[in-house]
Amino acid sequence: MNDLIEVAYLATAVCFILALKLMNSPKTARRGNLLAAAGMALALIATFFLRDPTSGRWVLGNYEWMAGAFVFGTVAGVWSARRVQMTAMPQMVALFNGLGGGAVALVALIEAMQVGGMGHRDMVQAVTTVLSLFIGAISFSGSLIAFAKLQELMTGRPITYFGQKVVNLLLLAGCIALMILLCAGPYSLPLFLTLLGASLAIGILFVLPIGGADMPVVISLLNSFTGCAAGLAGFVLGNTALLIGGGLVGASGLILTLEMCKAMNRSLENVVFGAFGSAPSGASSTASALQGSVRSYSVEDAAIIFASAESVVIVPGYGMAVAQAQHVVKELADRLTAKGIDVKYAIHPVAGRMPGHMNVLLAEADVPYDQLFDLEEINPMFVETDVALVIGANDVVNPAARYDKASPIYGMPILDVDKARTVIVCKRGMSPGFAGIENELFLQPNTIMVFGNAKQTIAKLSSAAESL
Ligand code: NDP
Repeated sequence: MNDLIEVAYLATAVCFILALKLMNSPKTARRGNLLAAAGMALALIATFFLRDPTSGRWVLGNYEWMAGAFVFGTVAGVWSARRVQMTAMPQMVALFNGLGGGAVALVALIEAMQVGGMGHRDMVQAVTTVLSLFIGAISFSGSLIAFAKLQELMTGRPITYFGQKVVNLLLLAGCIALMILLCAGPYSLPLFLTLLGASLAIGILFVLPIGGADMPVVISLLNSFTGCAAGLAGFVLGNTALLIGGGLVGASGLILTLEMCKAMNRSLENVVFGAFGSAPSGASSTASALQGSVRSYSVEDAAIIFASAESVVIVPGYGMAVAQAQHVVKELADRLTAKGIDVKYAIHPVAGRMPGHMNVLLAEADVPYDQLFDLEEINPMFVETDVALVIGANDVVNPAARYDKASPIYGMPILDVDKARTVIVCKRGMSPGFAGIENELFLQPNTIMVFGNAKQTIAKLSSAAESL
């Protein structure tokens, strides 16, 4: 029976790896998700049949509890995934990730209590057990703080105080000392619980000084922590599926974290220790420093510009997500296409508030994948573009990123919409975006502003474009 279970675990690992491959493209991402879920279900079901290799007896007890947890987890997961608003997805991921980390910490605690003492067991096992407790607990408490910040249950601003880094370092040093004591010395439940408490405190104190808007990067990093902790727990329990699955989550979470930092042109150190968003930035791109005036157009006047256009590039941003305007955007694009206009969508890697945010929204509205273009692909095309239609995007189209060394987004690759013949920007007012800075694009001679909520404005633009 256990050989069969090992085969099932191997099949689970293959499902996870293939799922990651499928998630590389929006076209196949949905299938990737389903395959990963099928792999997870297979591993969970196989675990019910585990037997002791020598006695042949069932290894696990409490089958009713396990089945109850299985059903409860599935129902809660499906219910919350169906119910969650797309803009609230980062906090849901934070919550799920925190639960994963907490589960790993509990497994480590129970395992250590059952064996009865770290000092009596293999050193590698001992080290992996304390490490999975330590990392799992950090991931649990850190993710809960990230959730609270994003859900606005607490302030999203960085919470800093004098000597914060020293306190964090001392706590970390204390945890390392406790882990050494636990591995080398005799079993001690109080020491174990102290390590648990200190690790939970590190998770909280590590996330508190990070601004709410940086939470998606932090969640991705904590996700990587959970993966590593799960991989370690897989080693402790001798569970291949957990070991491989944890390793994959750990590696992919880290890659995603670094990719997000790269797309924002910020180092991981700056995200974690930079307290970004704590005070107004000292950037030189302030309203007073900007030259030019705002040209505000009515929807009808803006629509006339499409009459002479042959190519339109739509640039969605966070505002489109907030307004849930993706369906009307698709409707407008279809109308323009029907009039013989070439329509493309430009996707910036960090547009919105989570990786792939725009891809998910546009997929929801059934936008054809071949109309989506990455930053590197689309940028050379802007000089040939008649109209760049910017919908609720701000930082990702701010030209200051190219030259203003004082700007917090200096060096971030941006979409070169300013090079298009005409830029139509649709947003509610002149408010800045996530980085909190003014945008000179809005004052450029080839830019026109159409003020209003993205959903209503684009719906009106779509009707006006129909009657051109
Ligand atoms: P921004 O946050 O720069 O700007 C969004 C703009 O949308 C605002 O200026 C706002 O202006 C406008 N807006 C808000 N609500 C509406 C609405 N209902 N209708 C119309 N407009 C609206 O968004 P971008 O997508 O350009 O940039 C994303 C930013 O988030 C980047 O700085 C990125 O680094 C950061 N980030 C992204 C992450 C990711 O993974 N994607 C993770 C962490 C950070 P107004 O209020 O005037 O309407």
